[in-house]
Amino acid sequence: MKWDIEQSKMVSGTTRIYGIIGNPVTHTLSPLLHNTAFREMGLNCIYLPFHVNNTELSAAINGIRAINIHGFNVTMPHKLTIIPLIDQLDPLAMRIGAVNTVTNCEGKLTGYNTDATGFIRALLDNGVDPRGKKVVVFGAGGVSRAICFALAEQKCEIVIVNRTVDKARKLANMVSIVASRRVKSFNVSEETLDKSLYEADIIVNATSIGMDETIGKSVLAAGLLRSSMVVFDTIYHPIETQLIKDAKKIGAQVIGGLDMLLWQGAIAFKIWTGLDAPFELIKNELTRVLKNYED
Ligand code: NAP
Repeated sequence: MKWDIEQSKMVSGTTRIYGIIGNPVTHTLSPLLHNTAFREMGLNCIYLPFHVNNTELSAAINGIRAINIHGFNVTMPHKLTIIPLIDQLDPLAMRIGAVNTVTNCEGKLTGYNTDATGFIRALLDNGVDPRGKKVVVFGAGGVSRAICFALAEQKCEIVIVNRTVDKARKLANMVSIVASRRVKSFNVSEETLDKSLYEADIIVNATSIGMDETIGKSVLAAGLLRSSMVVFDTIYHPIETQLIKDAKKIGAQVIGGLDMLLWQGAIAFKIWTGLDAPFELIKNELTRVLKNYED
C-alpha cells in the first residue's frame, strides 16, 4: 500500500498518536480505517502499527505510557495477556476477559472490547435485533469468545460448534458462568447439531474456514442453510466467502465480516475522540483496498 505523503506532511509536535499492537500487524486494515477518518475529520492525529512480541508486551505498555500514545488497539496474540498490564477494564471487557481497545488518560490505561460491541452493532445496522434469538456460532477462538459474550448479553440461546470440541466446551462453560445462561457446545460432526441448525435464527462463522488456504470452502454444507436464517461471516477477506455466496443463493440475509471490522473500529474511534467516524467513507476505502487485493 502506498504511503500517504499528504497525511505525513500534517504530522507536527502536537499530533496525537494512536496505534495497534500485535504480532503480526503487517496486514492490518486498522491504520487505513483510522487515518482515513482522522484526515476526513481534520483531526491532528495519526495511527500506526506496532509489531510487539509476547516477551516485549510489558515493555511496550510501559513505552506507551512513557511516550503518551493516546489510545491503541490490541490484536492477537495480546488480547488476553494485556489485561494484568493495564489499570482498569470497562465492565464488558471484564466479563469477556479480552481487550482490543485501550485509552490512555494521563498514564491511566483503560481496556474495552469493541469486537463484541462491533459485532452487535453490525447486526443492528443490518436491521437484525439479536435479542433472545437462537444463534449457532462456529469456532471457539478469540473472535468467537467476544461474539459469544456479546450474544449472551443479548439473552440469546447460544450453541458453539468447533472442530476441537474441548475448546467449544470450555468457552461454553465460561460464557454460562459469567452470563448465567446455559450455552450448548458441539463437535462439527455431531448429528444432534442438525436440530440446533434447523432452529437457528442466526448462524455465525467465527472460524477461519473460507479464507487463505480454505478459500472456496464453507464451514457448513449449503444444504443445511435456510432462507429464514441470518448468516454472518466474520471473515472480511475475501469480502464474499463461500458461506455468504451459498446463503445469498437461497435468499438468506447475509452480513460480512467487513461490517464487524468497521464497527469495532468506529466504536474505538468514538471512545478515543468522542466523535462519530465517517462510516460510509471508511467503508468505501476498506472495500476498495480489499477488492484490489482480490483482483
Ligand atoms: P483463532 O483464535 O485462531 O480461532 C480460529 C478458529 O477457527 C478455531 O475455532 C479453529 O478451530 C477454527 N479453525 C481454523 N481452521 C479450521 C479448519 N481448517 N477446520 C475447522 N476449524 C478451523 O482465530 P480468531 O482470531 O478467533 O479469528 C477467527 C476468524 O475471525 C478469522 O477468520 C478472521 O478472519 C475473523 N476475524 C474477523 C474480524 C472482524 O472484525 N470481522 C476480526 C478478527 C478476526 P480449532 O479450535 O479446532 O483449531
